Amino acid sequence: MFRDQGMTYTKSISEIGSFSVYLSHIYVGGVIVHSSFNRMAGFHSDKMGCVNNAIRFIMERLPDHLPRISPLNVMLHPRIACEACWWPEGPGGKRTMFVGDKIFDVNDHYPGQSPIFGEGPKGKRGIPDQLRDAGIMNQITGLTPVPKRSASEAMRGIAAVVHEFGHFLHEANRPAMFWSLKMISSTACVAPDIGIQVSGYATINPLEFVAEVFTGLVFGLRYSEAVIAQYHAFGGVDL
Ligand SMILES: [Zn+2]
Repeated sequence: MFRDQGMTYTKSISEIGSFSVYLSHIYVGGVIVHSSFNRMAGFHSDKMGCVNNAIRFIMERLPDHLPRISPLNVMLHPRIACEACWWPEGPGGKRTMFVGDKIFDVNDHYPGQSPIFGEGPKGKRGIPDQLRDAGIMNQITGLTPVPKRSASEAMRGIAAVVHEFGHFLHEANRPAMFWSLKMISSTACVAPDIGIQVSGYATINPLEFVAEVFTGLVFGLRYSEAVIAQYHAFGGVDL
């Protein structure tokens, strides 16, 4: 099983590798980030800007936690999903964060629907969509530039990367809890009345709930005691 997953890993890397010419090791805040870059200068600079800013936001709230998820391999490419992966999948697996252009996608809620748990044309909305709605980028100073992207796109991208960091920090914080929740046989679910206080995306499953609450907390959103209690019960990092 592990060997199969190892092959998947190799395949993913080589698919991306056809667009990459070298690996660069960037040390930011105790995290070792191995990033793929394209021959064309600046090809990934928008996504790299989001990764740098996400690390900054997390370090402000959790100065000691990033070394726990180091080394973290970050693969940047326009046409990949945004996800947190481990190879082999399980405790001790190598961490890789995939960051694609989807982090910038607009998903405005349908008219008349709730900005918190309403849906948009791209489905369930998350904290990155809420933060994009709020336009808070203009109130934040000292950000690393996110080239080629508007302030609202950059906000969404940074928050989406923080969400992925949330998965890695969750796993590092409570590995046994994380992997039991990730198992297909897990019957753990998020109570709808709690999930909808956070986001539509947070209602999907406990792992998305934790990553969504984490993202909200990093950006200073406030939640009910019931939400915070559920977040901790699922093994979310103290913030
Ligand atoms: Zn997620």
